[in-house]
Amino acid sequence: MTTQGKGPIVVAGAGLAGLSAAVRLSSQQMQRDIVVLEATASGGGRSRSFEHGRSGYELDNGQHLMMGCYFETLAFLRTLGQDHNVEFQRNMSVDMVQPGGKRVSMRCPALPAPLHLGAGLLGMRGMGLLHKASALRAGLLLRGEVDRPDDNETCDAWLRRLGQTQPIRNAFWEPLVWATLNDDPLVSSAAMLMAVLERAFLGTRDASSFGLPKLPLSKLYVNPSVQYLEERGVSVRTASPLRGIECGGNGVSAVILRSGERIETDTVISALPPKPLLSSLPETVLRDPVFADVAKLTNSPIVNLWVVLDRSLWDDVPFLGLISSPLHWLFDRSRIEGLDEPGRVLVNCTISGARGMVDDRPHVLVELFKAEMKRFFPGRHFEVLDSKVIKEKKATITHAAGTYQYRPGTVSPVKGLFLAGDWVRTGLPATIESAVQSGHDAAKAVVARAQP
Ligand SMILES: Cc1cc2nc3c(=O)[nH]c(=O)nc-3n(C[C@H](O)[C@H](O)[C@H](O)COP(=O)(O)OP(=O)(O)OC[C@H]3O[C@@H](n4cnc5c(N)ncnc54)[C@H](O)[C@@H]3O)c2cc1C
Repeated sequence: MTTQGKGPIVVAGAGLAGLSAAVRLSSQQMQRDIVVLEATASGGGRSRSFEHGRSGYELDNGQHLMMGCYFETLAFLRTLGQDHNVEFQRNMSVDMVQPGGKRVSMRCPALPAPLHLGAGLLGMRGMGLLHKASALRAGLLLRGEVDRPDDNETCDAWLRRLGQTQPIRNAFWEPLVWATLNDDPLVSSAAMLMAVLERAFLGTRDASSFGLPKLPLSKLYVNPSVQYLEERGVSVRTASPLRGIECGGNGVSAVILRSGERIETDTVISALPPKPLLSSLPETVLRDPVFADVAKLTNSPIVNLWVVLDRSLWDDVPFLGLISSPLHWLFDRSRIEGLDEPGRVLVNCTISGARGMVDDRPHVLVELFKAEMKRFFPGRHFEVLDSKVIKEKKATITHAAGTYQYRPGTVSPVKGLFLAGDWVRTGLPATIESAVQSGHDAAKAVVARAQP
């Protein structure tokens, strides 16, 4: 395939959106140079890992969970030869723990979707029949609900409309909303929740299974992408921040790096977050309503606590949800990564939509972790041997009800400028899958534009 044009195709940003766009373009035998420009020294953006010198572990910027319905991400990983490094559950299964240690467990049996969900909900251990019946009712109404999603309705209003009881909200719905939409059900859009429910529960049974990376994120996504690209002659320029995109009446004409270097091009895929994209565009372009809407998007934080414990707090499953706790999920990373170190257990604790905690000092968060673990695992005595707190203040865009309309499409109003990033209009909440889908969509649009 040939795509004629002026200069190289420039991909700005080497997060998963930019990397997946460049990998897809470079796999298509294009006779045109591709240049990836990344501001940081190593790329990966919000899905990256780094060496933590003191503990010796390679830590992710935050624990990332996938689902079987991450079809674009799985295709991306297959291209990189990395799909075997994500461990998927055979059937969806979630364990939640209550203060005091009692579990609420959901195990979906090997039935076709969505029967597996219905049977999983009905068979939930630790949940009364009345509450299970209310969830089953929502499950039965799901097909109609996903067919007419309402972005102006909040998840809270949707759950109330479907008569969900508080215990089933605490143990099932609310953790699902916080985890997938990274915000409070009181503000999050029901339409975004419908997008998740449709993909996860109304397709195949495998679609709802959780997948955990067996490797740190840079080893899973970033390094293999860079290797793949460089083997195909793509220039991946790290520590090369983009400063501006020049555009006039004929669309894009060049990009300017912060170093002052100018690269002439008529094709740019921006895989930047909203703010750096807006600051790279000229005033005249920013007046376009599409970019005026992008400026209205806001962010939601995630806080991750990495702790090294002297022993396990639980030993049967790789991850656990905490019911009615300011801390949301615990992951036994030693078990997930197959690390066998007597007297050392690496645990991740994830707090989504962590607005109330993002300004707390690390030692305050570690003390909160210790107090909560005593509440949830009474009788388990443990020592925290080491810890690292990572605050991602702009972890995702906020999926508040009524805001989906502000997300732009792949093809921007500027000729030759294509938009990627988990925050563009993919029909999905800002996740790995949305980022990779946006990258693939942008690559497709670039190729389509070049077709005679
Ligand atoms: C803590 C945390 C936990 C998460 N957990 C999950 C999860 O469990 N499951 C899930 O599916 N998703 C999860 N996500 C979301 C997921 O990480 C993101 O959706 C995804 O990584 C976004 O990728 P992106 O390429 O769209 O954006 P980014 O990763 O933000 O990439 C943008 C890139 O652009 C670069 N850049 C910025 N400015 C410039 C410039 N001027 N010039 C050049 N480059 C520039 C940045 O350095 C960055 O590399 C989580 C996110 C966080 C932060």
